[in-house]
Amino acid sequence: MHELSLCRSIVGVVERHADTARVRRVNLQVGQLRQVVPATLTYCWSLVNADTPLGGSELCIESVPARIRCTGCAGTTELDAPVLVCAHCGGTAVQVVAGEEFLITSLELTEA
Ligand SMILES: [Zn+2]
Repeated sequence: MHELSLCRSIVGVVERHADTARVRRVNLQVGQLRQVVPATLTYCWSLVNADTPLGGSELCIESVPARIRCTGCAGTTELDAPVLVCAHCGGTAVQVVAGEEFLITSLELTEA
């Protein structure tokens, strides 16, 4: 499962940064183009960490809408569907400018 391997890589990053402090919450930004199901990701998070020091920590996911910029008219379009078409001129020569994020934005720690 895609989400399971994502959780493992998040764990790796969190462990490097948290050191011996206890992690209460991990804040994550996930772009809508990443095909990640937030509920599945949080479920995997509790599963992967059940018997580890990260057990009981919360994974908080902020979903980032996908956005494209048109190379024809320079307009930007926020996408509600994964269709890469400019809303201003109908052009398809577009660049994805947001929506591919997969980023740990912050950790909330409590002293051990
Ligand atoms: Zn356009």
